[in-house]
Amino acid sequence: MAPGPEVSGIDIYLRIKPVQRASTRLAFDTTENKIKFVIPRNEAAGLVTNRRGHFEFRFNGILTAEAKQDEVFERVARPAVMGAMSGYNGTIFAYGQTGSGKTFTITGGPERYVDRGIIPRSISAIFSEISKRADQQFTVHISYLEIYNNEGYDLLDAEREIKAMEDLQQVHLGEADDGTVSYRNLSMYRANNEEEALNLLFLGDTNRTISETPMNMASSRSHCIFTIHVEGRKVGEDLVRRSKLNLVDLAGYQRVPKKGVDRTTHREAKYINLSLHYLKQVIIARQEKAMGMNRPHIPYRNSMMTMALKDSLGGNCRTTMVATVNSAQDQLDESISTCRFAQRVAMVRNTVLLNEELDPSLMIRRLKQEVRELKEEIRLLKGEEEERGPLTPDEITRLQGTRC
Ligand code: ADP
Ligand code: MG
Repeated sequence: MAPGPEVSGIDIYLRIKPVQRASTRLAFDTTENKIKFVIPRNEAAGLVTNRRGHFEFRFNGILTAEAKQDEVFERVARPAVMGAMSGYNGTIFAYGQTGSGKTFTITGGPERYVDRGIIPRSISAIFSEISKRADQQFTVHISYLEIYNNEGYDLLDAEREIKAMEDLQQVHLGEADDGTVSYRNLSMYRANNEEEALNLLFLGDTNRTISETPMNMASSRSHCIFTIHVEGRKVGEDLVRRSKLNLVDLAGYQRVPKKGVDRTTHREAKYINLSLHYLKQVIIARQEKAMGMNRPHIPYRNSMMTMALKDSLGGNCRTTMVATVNSAQDQLDESISTCRFAQRVAMVRNTVLLNEELDPSLMIRRLKQEVRELKEEIRLLKGEEEERGPLTPDEITRLQGTRC
């Protein structure tokens, strides 16, 4: 029998980006998984909204500037990958200011093989795990969604030539009666092996780059969700386990200078900041709910990004957040606000279920097979009788001969 629901918090990890000159105001305690900001009083007033000079935040784990991509994968993502193989939904999302290493963490750096991020490493781990489990059958599908200016786009739209964002297939979200979110027009491609899955990632990333407006090439202005859908069952059984592993690269908060910025950039920044604001509202509502406050309404519907992450932020999902920070002196206020947000995220409670069900189509297939075999058996039995059936004239004569 499947285990009952398990209540699980969101794990939070802090990742520090290596910089030339790290601020001396920052200190880590990697045994206690704490980060401390010590700000002299005269600086504190301008730097952060309150006048405290001491800030301390605790995480589930700290990935210092020296931490390499393989360590990040092992600590942050491996558990989610193994969970997905066993039928548990997982989400890993990176959150932090622009340039702090979100894309580097989730997708990786483009130049060196060792810089591969969580997505390619998860793909690799899933297929290597599949090859080890001979008693199970798995199918893997991939989807890749981009959210730009609060609209969804299918990054795996292979049908047409992509030159701009508008060329991508638009994706719409729907909500079922039970609250689960579904996608319309988001393609899902089957990947039979690691190479096929990596090709899909490559196609999506290429579409993402091509469709970005040239002036913004340096930083991504969209949220992206790469999803690995895993379906597994033991050979010869009708029980199917289905899970989704969402790997999420959020766009970072945009500072918008008052002058000298064109309208497109303004519009993009507005949408990004608004969606991050709504994300905060959802997290605050979930956190308050977890603390027992009466929060019947969680404002998911305000933005497409929060809708797309609905399950990850308080639903049936094991979720992990990587808070990325830049330790340079002039970025401290942003780093503090990222850490503060992470503390709230850590208090969200998700109810995680093993996604296991009897697959009716598999059961029907198995029952049909059984019926076929039984019919065959009956036919044989009957057939034998029929062969013996009408007596040949020879048999009749012999039988008559025995009558006395
Ligand atoms: P974001 O997605 O948060 O805007 P990026 O991931 O694009 O930021 O990172 C900005 C730049 O810093 C990129 O050139 C990236 O390769 C580099 N970078 C970020 N984190 C690291 C890291 N941990 N190690 C090495 N380079 C990094
Ligand atoms: Mg990025």
